[in-house]
Amino acid sequence: MSANKEIYTRAKAEVDRRRENAQALAFERREECKSRFPEIAKAYRIMAETACECVKALGLGGKAQDFIDEISKKNLQAQKVIADTLKKAGLPEDYLKEKYFCTVCNDNGFVDGKMCECLKNTMRQLTYNSLCDKLPIEKYRFDNFSLELYPDFPDENGMIPKKRMKSFYDYCVSYADDFSKNSGNLIMSGDTGLGKTHLSLAIAGEAAKKGFSVIYGSAQNLLSSLENEKFGKSAQTGAEQAILDCDLLIIDDLGAEFSTQFTVSAVYNILNTRIMMSKPTIISTNLTLYEIEEKYTQRIASRILGNYDLMEFTGRDIRVVKKN
Ligand SMILES: [Zn+2]
Repeated sequence: MSANKEIYTRAKAEVDRRRENAQALAFERREECKSRFPEIAKAYRIMAETACECVKALGLGGKAQDFIDEISKKNLQAQKVIADTLKKAGLPEDYLKEKYFCTVCNDNGFVDGKMCECLKNTMRQLTYNSLCDKLPIEKYRFDNFSLELYPDFPDENGMIPKKRMKSFYDYCVSYADDFSKNSGNLIMSGDTGLGKTHLSLAIAGEAAKKGFSVIYGSAQNLLSSLENEKFGKSAQTGAEQAILDCDLLIIDDLGAEFSTQFTVSAVYNILNTRIMMSKPTIISTNLTLYEIEEKYTQRIASRILGNYDLMEFTGRDIRVVKKN
């Protein structure tokens, strides 16, 4: 099965599951109310009977209209009994109706033969997920980021790492709190093991929780997806669109990828397009801006310099500190 077909099949199964859940919940509630309120049980019996009687009306010819009027009167009365009983019991009036996730297509995925937006969105989200590295967002949160691991005495540059990290931490927390589709761009630069990944994953987790579409991937993996798509090595399409379109793109470890002419121009295209569309991107990298200019181009370095807030992480690898 091609990747696109697979995404469709999984998305459709998800939409079907929502519909079945909504129907099962409504069914359960009806059964519950039928046993709790005899008048509701009776009303449902009457409604079932009137449905059968409607079939009889077909054989009545000229007299059919009166008969049908009578049946619909009975039906409306039964519905009123149900509504009144629910109201008396303090239950919402739509308590027994199916609560569909998408009220446009009632979780069918299609309206008038056309694919509904809810199915398209589900497919988009699955494409995003397939691009995301399987990183434990649950594991890296703000509330388990420990500042205790950073020294509180001045380093060789006279800066106190703990104080500096506290200001980065606060910045990232408020970035995540205020996150919107037009938030600013961030670049976290510094050696491995200083908390860049932890903080960027914590932001990713918060943004995803609010319902924003987030793609988090290592530069290596994101660029390979693009390369495979471009050169037809992968059946999946939509990687480039997803990377350019998502509400928040987080590129981890920029500069660790194997560099080619393709990757250099792809990085420029991603950063530049997202800047033009005012869509936020967060980069973490072991490179300094100077090294970025060396590895990529001056054009890329100056786009970053002009459009990104820079956080320079300094100090010792906290993973070493943790072990000690
Ligand atoms: Zn829909």
